[in-house]
Amino acid sequence: MAGSTIELRVGGMTCLDCARHITQALERVPGVSSARVNYRAGMAEVEVAQSVAPATLITAVERAGYKARVASAEAPVEPTAASPRAAPAEPNGELLLAAGDADFDLLIIGTGGAGAAAAIQAVGMGGKVAIIESGTLGGTCVNVGCIPSKNLIEAASHYQAATRGFPGIAPCSPTLDWSGVVESKNSLVTKLRQSKYADVIASYPGVALIEGRARFVGGGNGSPVVVTVGKEDRGQTYRARKVLIATGTRSWAPPLPGLDAVGALDSTSAMKLTELPASLLVLGGGAVGLELGQTFARFGVKVTIVEVAARLLPLEDESVSAEIEEHLRADGLEIHTGTEAIRAERQRDDVVLHAKQGSLEGTFCAESLLVAAGRRANTDNLGLDAVGVALTSRGFIEVDATMRTSNADIFSAGDVTGGPGYVYVAADGGRVAAENAMKSLALTGTSRDDARELDLSTVPNVTFTSPQVGSVGLTEAKARELGHHVQVAVLKMDQVPRALVSGDTRGIVKMVADTASGKLLGIHAVAPVAGELMGEAAMAIRFGLTARDVAGTLHPYLTWAESLKLAAQGFTMDLSKLSCCA
Ligand SMILES: Cc1cc2nc3c(=O)[nH]c(=O)nc-3n(C[C@H](O)[C@H](O)[C@H](O)COP(=O)(O)OP(=O)(O)OC[C@H]3O[C@@H](n4cnc5c(N)ncnc54)[C@H](O)[C@@H]3O)c2cc1C
Repeated sequence: MAGSTIELRVGGMTCLDCARHITQALERVPGVSSARVNYRAGMAEVEVAQSVAPATLITAVERAGYKARVASAEAPVEPTAASPRAAPAEPNGELLLAAGDADFDLLIIGTGGAGAAAAIQAVGMGGKVAIIESGTLGGTCVNVGCIPSKNLIEAASHYQAATRGFPGIAPCSPTLDWSGVVESKNSLVTKLRQSKYADVIASYPGVALIEGRARFVGGGNGSPVVVTVGKEDRGQTYRARKVLIATGTRSWAPPLPGLDAVGALDSTSAMKLTELPASLLVLGGGAVGLELGQTFARFGVKVTIVEVAARLLPLEDESVSAEIEEHLRADGLEIHTGTEAIRAERQRDDVVLHAKQGSLEGTFCAESLLVAAGRRANTDNLGLDAVGVALTSRGFIEVDATMRTSNADIFSAGDVTGGPGYVYVAADGGRVAAENAMKSLALTGTSRDDARELDLSTVPNVTFTSPQVGSVGLTEAKARELGHHVQVAVLKMDQVPRALVSGDTRGIVKMVADTASGKLLGIHAVAPVAGELMGEAAMAIRFGLTARDVAGTLHPYLTWAESLKLAAQGFTMDLSKLSCCA
């Protein structure tokens, strides 16, 4: 039977987004050619190109988290073998969800950036979704990562600005209420956890939130995956068609003799300190160690960074590492790179860290020790063996570019897969995984159902020190190692009008371009707001722009972003010979 219209009365829609979700859910039903959904009228008009059971449409709407019933059908349509997900009508006219032998289409383990984004994606595609959390709702970023750390960094920068003043404005000694700073940070975290996670998840009726620790029992590779949640012997068991592992990472400490006994801090406990220590040793010169180390230093703590690699932020361009080291030292931090910690001990009230630098051995001493030496995947006690999910040599979950693990029905995304440890990468991975999981449930394959791949070809990096460090693309050394003939332009921030008026000329912008094609290969910045430049920088690298393209694009005068244009001009001209904004 071809070309008929079925009208559904849909309950629970409140906005255009609801209408969009329902449209997507209906248009994914095989045989549906188009759907028009009006949320104000509470109606959906569904054009079907072939015979489709109304019950199938209703199931699709219910899976998207809304209620539906048939308002009218232009011509009678019969259930067909092509729509086996059609749900049988109950005697009272309500319809059962055709969940088959599974409780959920997608079961997500972890409510962090990856898990939450995946849940929204899957429910938008008509999935019946559950999301499990064993710790605090929202995961690392909102609770113990991005949000609290950036809030403390902001507080430290206001405190320091007051102590430094501005030409014509006398510096002062502001009264520091550290516990007030921590309380304000805690209340921001609570507010954002509620508004960005709890309220958002609750606004999707198609997503069930389950509390408890998840563990695989078995299944997958063609049969439903079985997961228990809660205590091992008394857990609740769920069956899911697809599962997403988004369990994140936790702080890791190197196996250093004596470390357990000294009561070292990690990033989470450091941000909860109720009193500031007089001095702090930071083990690790990566992003977390530098951000928190500088924050404490700005609040008056004597901070020493100990880093085993030859330079800070060892994955960044060498010039960037040198530049940021200079500015951190100017902020009062003591920095020891190429220095390996070998043992820790407590002597009276202090922590003593024994370390060696080449053939030299020595000790560092401080009131507290913060270990910021990396993170490890949360894969323990997940029962991965029961479902044959393989790990990489570094203990992360192995996935292909479509986020599928070695079990065809289990996907994974976010930090637990060992990719770049940023929440925007985690969220994108979660979306890709959920989209692919839902597509793989489709009854008939279309070109739209091809698995999507996570594109990590252009990942912007930001370290929120002051000045900030931002980079995207290849470092100069990496570009040369890959065989490119490169041209390099380095702009000092004292050439940037915005930096001059702001009285903050710290930093550089460095661009690396391929000599033959002129295409930009890498953009690296140390600047007060380098992070804000990385959106444009990522677009330039991702879409293969040349330095000429960037230099020839109008950039508003007296913005920090103008530094990108000036750096690009630096390939062909002497910037000191340019007039203002030329
Ligand atoms: C101090 C710090 C600062 C950071 N700053 C930034 C920043 O400025 N910008 C940025 O982009 N990124 C930042 N990050 C990184 C960012 O926080 C992470 O990349 C991101 O949160 C990872 O998200 P995820 O979903 O993969 O994992 P997570 O957010 O860690 O979520 C995993 C969740 O799974 C739960 N879980 C684990 N095992 C189980 C189980 N068996 N059953 C049920 N639930 C389970 C955990 O409780 C957790 O809630 C920072 C990280 C730290 C530590």
